[in-house]
Amino acid sequence: MKWLKNIVTACFGGLAGLSLNCKAAVRLQSEALEHQLSFRQRLGLRLHLLLCVWCRRYGKQIAFIHHAAHSHPDEMTKIVPQQLSSEARERLRQKIRAESK
Ligand SMILES: [Zn+2]
Repeated sequence: MKWLKNIVTACFGGLAGLSLNCKAAVRLQSEALEHQLSFRQRLGLRLHLLLCVWCRRYGKQIAFIHHAAHSHPDEMTKIVPQQLSSEARERLRQKIRAESK
């Protein structure tokens, strides 16, 4: 009967260890984008996501950002000029002067 106890403990006793808090769920969702999680991590994450709307929403958002970044890698490395045009600078000067009066 020891084998039965071991099976029951493995199935039901182990479930308590699967419960995640939101902090752990967020971390695992980020890790899942980079590499495959273990079966136990995936199961724990799935259980948490069934119950937590906030982490489900977070997961959708980071998946969207991850997909967008990998879909346009050339645009992510493109250097964007950090200088304002002379017209934009003048508009800002006028706005600042007007508000400081
Ligand atoms: Zn959560």
